[in-house]
Amino acid sequence: MDFTGKVALVTGGGNGIGRATSVAFARQGAKVMVVDRDGDGAQATVGIIRQNNGDAVAVTADVTKVADVKAYVKAAIETYGRIDCFFNNAGIEGKLAPTTEYDEAVFDAVIGVNVKGVFLGLRHVLPEMIRQGGGAVVNTASVAGLVATPGMSAYVASKHAVIGLTKTAAGEVAHQGIRVNAVCPGPVDTRMIHALEEQISPADPAAVGARYQAAIPSGRYTTVDEIANMVLFLCSDLASNTTGGQFVVDGGRTATGGAVTNPVRQ
Ligand code: NAD
Repeated sequence: MDFTGKVALVTGGGNGIGRATSVAFARQGAKVMVVDRDGDGAQATVGIIRQNNGDAVAVTADVTKVADVKAYVKAAIETYGRIDCFFNNAGIEGKLAPTTEYDEAVFDAVIGVNVKGVFLGLRHVLPEMIRQGGGAVVNTASVAGLVATPGMSAYVASKHAVIGLTKTAAGEVAHQGIRVNAVCPGPVDTRMIHALEEQISPADPAAVGARYQAAIPSGRYTTVDEIANMVLFLCSDLASNTTGGQFVVDGGRTATGGAVTNPVRQ
């Protein structure tokens, strides 16, 4: 997976999965535009890449604001001349609550980042890729885009929507040499999963983590690097006719229905 001479743009690149994927792209030779509303986080990711002799630039942007999205696209074109790989990844989890009690403002915020942010990214990056005559996009959905997690109506709806956006865009731009796929992580060891553990049990989040991980056939959360590997594969020429797909990386959790007890594994 050689990305020498390629340009990758990563939203949510200031932390977690986005940071690991930015670093992985750079390690494989890509120049990386790291986009995040957390400017310090984006700058820290750039620092890691430069320490390893890579090439990266940070842009502070809120993916829900069209002016910011246009600005990050412009910055990428002005700095690096093109966008070969677009990891459309920024997302938020919202609050845990039954649908009957779900806060309307939180619902709007989750849909704003996870759906509108992903849409705006596609809306403004794809024209550049069309102009160039090719490119690869990976949108971050989730296993919550495939199955429900009770208590997460906004998040589940938003990630199902990401899969809808992925399939729609894939069909629209395939003949222009552009591929659009979705990665569907299960629980990944980042701030987000630990924030959810804490929402479920502020007194003992570690116990929630242990229970969650026991429900995963591999016995553990996925690492950020394991998601980065899938994203790089989907952006690489190895995936040259792969488009419109949803790629689960979850240690077997979705396949087994997320059963909490596993009588087979001792
Ligand atoms: P994270 O909170 O560590 O990173 C998310 C990043 O997105 C942060 O740097 C944050 O500042 C940025 N961000 C949030 N809203 C933004 C906005 N409006 N504009 C610009 N940047 C914004 O979480 P993560 O686990 O790395 O999440 C990355 C993606 O992976 C998200 O889309 C998330 O839904 C998805 N995901 C995570 C998990 C998990 O268990 N961690 C599982 C499935 C899917």
